[in-house]
Amino acid sequence: MENLTMTDSREMLLSADQPTTITVAKGDGIGPEIMNATLRILKAAGAPLQFDMIEVGEKQYLSGNSSGIPESAWDSIRKNKVFLKAPITTPQGGGYKSLNVTMRKKLGLYANIRPCASYHPYVSTKHPVMDLVIIRENEEDLYAGIEHQQTDEVIQCLKLISRPGCERIIRYAFEYAQQYGRKKVTCFSKDNIMKQTDGLFHRIFDEIGAEYPNIEKEHWIIDIGAAKLADSPEIFDVIVTLNLYGDVISDIAAQIAGSVGLAGSANIGTHCAMFEAIHGSAPKIAGENIANPSGLIQAAILMLVHLKQNAIAEKIQHAWLKTIEDGIHTPDIYKEGMSKVKAGTAEFADAVIERLGCIPEHFKTVSYTSSTFESRLKPYVRRAPMKKELVGVDVMVHWNGSDAGELANKVLSGLTTNFTLKMISNRGTAVWPNSLPETFCTDHWRLRFIGTDANTPIPKNQLLSLLEMLDRSGIDYIKTEHLYTFDGKPGYSMGQGQ
Ligand code: NAD
Repeated sequence: MENLTMTDSREMLLSADQPTTITVAKGDGIGPEIMNATLRILKAAGAPLQFDMIEVGEKQYLSGNSSGIPESAWDSIRKNKVFLKAPITTPQGGGYKSLNVTMRKKLGLYANIRPCASYHPYVSTKHPVMDLVIIRENEEDLYAGIEHQQTDEVIQCLKLISRPGCERIIRYAFEYAQQYGRKKVTCFSKDNIMKQTDGLFHRIFDEIGAEYPNIEKEHWIIDIGAAKLADSPEIFDVIVTLNLYGDVISDIAAQIAGSVGLAGSANIGTHCAMFEAIHGSAPKIAGENIANPSGLIQAAILMLVHLKQNAIAEKIQHAWLKTIEDGIHTPDIYKEGMSKVKAGTAEFADAVIERLGCIPEHFKTVSYTSSTFESRLKPYVRRAPMKKELVGVDVMVHWNGSDAGELANKVLSGLTTNFTLKMISNRGTAVWPNSLPETFCTDHWRLRFIGTDANTPIPKNQLLSLLEMLDRSGIDYIKTEHLYTFDGKPGYSMGQGQ
């Protein structure tokens, strides 16, 4: 068997067609094993590809490059525009940022597409009828990674959701469904709690969904939606959701389909695309030749379709399905009675290669059509600005007391500006003017001030006088959030219980 090493800079595949150069990273943990398997299959199938090998991940991190990726690797990806990536290990602690998240965000890969299907009866699953696609927003949400410790006891992480982010992913989901003959798009959000952020996602789902009358639409609150997905995945077709929920439910969906090792994903942007397995680097089984390379093989098939190399994609998928049908299974999906051969990673790849040109007997054959919908995705157009008025301010303060009334008195005794103290909350729960003795309070308090004259917007410079006043009263303010109305509607949430 040919050994494709990490240090090879370029590997040319023999092909009659002009090869396309793609960037490849073998990653960490099981990455090199599953990437070698996948590249051997691509090569044996005659994919007209040339590989530009880069090194990203753990070695880069540990050599002192906190981003995990050298400049030259960015150049390769930006030039080739298509990146096949094995999983990488993010070292624990030490402030290392996830390279996967950095890639997706820096390259503008806003859509993460994760098909999850079951391969009954050959791969054991409680859900024989399962064929769904999760379309996950890939750049925003809590993955903005903006975290701050504000008091001894409280750390915050900002959840950022934008109109362009929502519009782009939701339109992508509907166009995807349209192109691939899917019947229904389901939106998962938690807008009963996060009315502003998740509320925007749900609202835009309704707005854009109205443009697709032939596609069925539904919305589920993520908690019961995820429960339903784990219990009855057959009722779902295309699911569109925010970044964190999509991350969690796609692992669930892959696992209940048979194994987290089976699913691949595409990260699509306007300029570049990145293809990877959905699982991580599985360091505990690295080097043992037991990892399932199927997730990365499926990612490579998604990549071939993206490159319009549909015939090669079909050839590999048919050979892969035939291998699964023939009971040649890696240990994660091996089952006595159904499986015939417990294959290692390399042997599984050999079996797929032997079957190139074969057609599956049980599974349906596939016929890939290159997507044309991406050219129909309208670029985001910024709307006319709304009328934005400053009506108040939330001031977060670090205070070690426990009685909100005492804090209120301290604030009110020095309040000389045109503000009224409307509410004090602790971790979002209103604790003044009315409170319950049972409410637990930390050292992180929010003072909500509104303008004394409700009909007059507040000039911004008055915020500074307010902060100076708090400072003089010995109040340790740590952060402010302005309260705006947009076209007269409040752009902020109420306190819990307010
Ligand atoms: P993981 O996906 O690596 O492993 C979870 C479980 O699934 C383990 O039991 C593992 O053995 C098993 N598994 C995963 N892939 C398999 C395969 N192909 N065949 C057979 N079994 C497989 O998740 P983790 O343990 O939480 O993370 C390990 C490392 O991977 C961490 O450093 C994490 O940051 C990283 N990670 C990377 C990516 C990526 O590069 N896209 C994604 C997720 C996690």
